[in-house]
Amino acid sequence: MESFREKILRDSPRLSPESKFRFACNPEVPCFGKCCANVNIFLTPYDVLRMKNVLGITSADFLERYTIPLLLEEQQLPVVVLRMEDDDEQKCPFVSDGGCTIYDDRPWSCRMYPLGLATSKIPGGEGEEFCFVVEEGDTICQGFNEDREWTVEEWLKDQDVNVFNRKSESYMQLTLHPHFLENKQLDERQMQEFFKTCYDIDGFRRKLFESSFFDRFDISDDVKEQLKVDDEALLEFAITKWLRFALFRENTMVVKDGELERGAKALGWKVE
Ligand code: SF4
Ligand code: SF4
Repeated sequence: MESFREKILRDSPRLSPESKFRFACNPEVPCFGKCCANVNIFLTPYDVLRMKNVLGITSADFLERYTIPLLLEEQQLPVVVLRMEDDDEQKCPFVSDGGCTIYDDRPWSCRMYPLGLATSKIPGGEGEEFCFVVEEGDTICQGFNEDREWTVEEWLKDQDVNVFNRKSESYMQLTLHPHFLENKQLDERQMQEFFKTCYDIDGFRRKLFESSFFDRFDISDDVKEQLKVDDEALLEFAITKWLRFALFRENTMVVKDGELERGAKALGWKVE
């Protein structure tokens, strides 16, 4: 059976940055807040970082209270979706009569709407990516009846989508790593490492600072200090350095002399 993604890739008009659409969303629209219920909202690691910080809770608490873990079908990668309230309305836990209570830190998907992003990219990077307008036949959204006209470029800028795209670039690249070509998947242990490192960023910090991590890897004092206090730098390090090393054996971490064997064993690698 054809998936939603396949249908979008086949049927949706490809929007360019200059393409125009009419839309406005504000407290005056009669449907205000109605769309924030019963929706699947995938969260990137950067979304989780922003949301747990604005809520003032740890990443582990956030994951437990507000997310549901899933496996991405194609690469079998662990991801999370926002957990809706467990009642008839299935509202987002962050919606109120006044709108989104975490508006400045709302996730990427909420910023994009009414645009979606379709991608046929495969591991290794080949494929196309384009924006489309998410218009369903029986939509409750009356924002399309408003007069305000946008270009795609204007919308993405206005909603800070470009900032979120930039902050998630290294994560997206990781999910398209050539390792996943030819249906190769992570094993159970690697999946757990991927999930914990990407999403439980406070746990990753503990792993670094409350273990022998810095005895085993050569990391400058400046970087260490930054990783201690800067969540965004920590997430970037986690993805571009640690996970590429731990999952794909890329040369992104410098192992201290004599620690190679011990580190390899800790990762479950066979030492020749
Ligand atoms: S995070 Fe905010 S914008 Fe997104 S669904 Fe929830 S209430 Fe709506
Ligand atoms: S349904 Fe559309 S117009 Fe109404 S609140 Fe949601 S996004 Fe805004």
